[in-house]
Amino acid sequence: MEYRCPRCGGPVKKGYSGVARVAGGVMGNLFYAAFGSLQCAKCGKLARREFPQEARREMTMQTLLLVIPAVVLLIGLLVLVSRQ
Ligand SMILES: [Zn+2]
Repeated sequence: MEYRCPRCGGPVKKGYSGVARVAGGVMGNLFYAAFGSLQCAKCGKLARREFPQEARREMTMQTLLLVIPAVVLLIGLLVLVSRQ
């Protein structure tokens, strides 16, 4: 999903966070997608509160859609491990 910069109207990309880079792999990508900072090529790092409410709601939904399956998967794995 592409967002528009609230300052200049340019395309916004998600920047890597240190945590995502360290975690790596699938979980790293997930953290990156969920918690990566938003960056504009011209304006640099952008705060979520700078975006219109509609865009922020969409970001929250996307985060939930990523985090919930990950949590379910994690619980599933823990249940499988604890059974053995
Ligand atoms: Zn910008």
